[in-house]
Amino acid sequence: MKTPPHTRVNIVGAGLAGALLAVLLARRGYPVCLFERRPDPRQSQPERGRSINLALAARGMRALERAGVLEGIRPLLIPMRGRMVHELSGKVTLQAYGQREHEVIYSVGRADLNRVLIEAALRHEGVTVEFNQQCLGAQPARQVLRLRDQRAGTEREVALAATIAADGAGSAVRSSLAALGLVTVREEWLDHDYKEFTIPAAAGRHALQREALHIWPRGGFMLIALPNTDGSFTATLFLARSGAAASFAALSSPELAVQFFTREFPDAVLLMPDVGAEFARHPQGQLGSVHAAPWHLGGQLLLLGDAAHAIVPFHGQGMNAAFEDCLALDALIDAHGSWEEIFAQFEAARRPNAAAIAQMAVENYTEMRDTVLDAGYLRHKAIAMGLERRFPERFIPRYSMVMFHPEIPYAEALRRGGVQAQILADLDGGDRGADSPLAEKLVNERLAPVPTGGA
Ligand SMILES: Cc1cc2nc3c(=O)[nH]c(=O)nc-3n(C[C@H](O)[C@H](O)[C@H](O)COP(=O)(O)OP(=O)(O)OC[C@H]3O[C@@H](n4cnc5c(N)ncnc54)[C@H](O)[C@@H]3O)c2cc1C
Repeated sequence: MKTPPHTRVNIVGAGLAGALLAVLLARRGYPVCLFERRPDPRQSQPERGRSINLALAARGMRALERAGVLEGIRPLLIPMRGRMVHELSGKVTLQAYGQREHEVIYSVGRADLNRVLIEAALRHEGVTVEFNQQCLGAQPARQVLRLRDQRAGTEREVALAATIAADGAGSAVRSSLAALGLVTVREEWLDHDYKEFTIPAAAGRHALQREALHIWPRGGFMLIALPNTDGSFTATLFLARSGAAASFAALSSPELAVQFFTREFPDAVLLMPDVGAEFARHPQGQLGSVHAAPWHLGGQLLLLGDAAHAIVPFHGQGMNAAFEDCLALDALIDAHGSWEEIFAQFEAARRPNAAAIAQMAVENYTEMRDTVLDAGYLRHKAIAMGLERRFPERFIPRYSMVMFHPEIPYAEALRRGGVQAQILADLDGGDRGADSPLAEKLVNERLAPVPTGGA
C-alpha cells in the first residue's frame, strides 16, 4: 500500500470539515496542525449569525461513522421524519421524507457538533489546533501560508506543503490564489437572503412537533424551523433582499416585521415572542454558490468543503458534501504515494459531484418554498413512492438518493433523477400509475439497477 510520507499536514479552518479531516488524518498517523480564526469554542460563546442548526443526512453520518466519532455525536441529534407543512389556512400536514423507518434526517447544533469534532481531533497525539489564527492567504511561489494572530496582532509565515484549506465559503486561501491568478472563482449570489429567529421552548418542551422540519411555504419566500436539543427551534426566514412587496428591504422596522410575520405565518408568530427584536438584532445572511477551479496546486495545497464548492442550503447538503469530501480524500491516501496524485484524483472524482449538488440545491429552493403544495408535485411524489416500493433496486426518488443513499454519487443522483422525472411525466394521468404495466416497462427500459460503492 502506497501513502504519502508522514510529514505534517496543515489544515486552515477548524470548522466542520477541517476538524473531521484532522481526525481522519490523525488516525493514519499524520501530524496535523489546524489554524482557526475563531477563539477556542470550548472556552467561548459560539459566534452568532451562522446557521445555528443543520440537517445531517446519510452522507454526513457515514463520514462521521468511518471517522469513529458518530457515537459521541448521537446525543446531539434529533431525528426529523419529514416536512411539516404549515399552510396559511392553518392546515398542517406531514410529508414523510422517505418510506422506511431509517429514512430520516437529523437536526444538529453547529456549535456543539464543531466542539465535539475538535475534541475528537485533539484526543489524537499528533493534532494541534491554534485558535485566534487568521489565515491571510497562501503564497505558493514562496511556499508559505501567512497567518495573523488575532489577539497579539502579529503576523507570521509557516511552510505551505501540504495544506488543506477548509476555511469555508469566504475562504481567504481561495481569495489569495484568485488574486494571484492561480484559481478562477465565480460566485453566484441569490437575490434572497436569510435571517434566524428563536421559537423558545414552552414549559420546557418543544412548542411544535419535535421530530420534523417545519416549513411555511409562501411562494416567493418561506420560513423553516429545525428543533434544538434544549427544547427550542431555530427558525430561518428566506426572503428576497429587495423589492417593494415581500422583501427584507420592505421590512424597514421591527413593527413592519411583526406585521409581516403575523400576516404570513400566523401560527408561528404566536410562538415567537421576540420576533421584532430579533429581526432588528440578528444579521441578514447572504446565500450563494461558489464555483472555483482548480481546487489544488500540485501537492502543495487543496481547497475542500465550502472553500472549494459552497452551495445554497436548500437541500441541507453543504456540510454533508464537505464531510463526504473528507472521506473521499481519506480513501485516496491508501492508493497513492504523493499528495499531488491524491489532490488531483480528489478533484477529478469530486468536481462532478459538487457541481451536481450545487444544481440540485438551487432547484430544491423552488420545491420547498413553492411546489410542496402543488397538486402535480404531490401526485408525482405519490407515484414516485409507489415506484420505489415496486422497484426498490431501480427507482429511488431523487430526494431520497441525495439524503439516504451515500452509495449513489450526487452526479448519478442528478442523472437518474432526470430519467425518473421523465418516467413520472409519462405515467402521469389516466390509470397509468406505479402499478401499471407501462410503469414496469419504462422503469426496466430506462433505469439500470442502482450502483453500489460511491465517491
Ligand atoms: C443558513 C444555512 C443553513 C445551512 N444548513 C445546512 C444543512 O441543513 N445541512 C448541511 O449539510 N449544510 C448546511 N449548510 C451548509 C454548511 O453550513 C456548510 O456547507 C458547512 O459548514 C461547510 O463546512 P466547512 O468546514 O467547509 O466550512 P465551515 O463550517 O464554514 O468552517 C470554516 C472554518 O474556517 C474558519 N475560518 C474562516 N476563515 C478563516 C481564516 N481566514 N483563517 C482561519 N480560519 C478561518 C471558520 O472560522 C470556520 O471554523 C447551511 C449553510 C447556511 C448558510
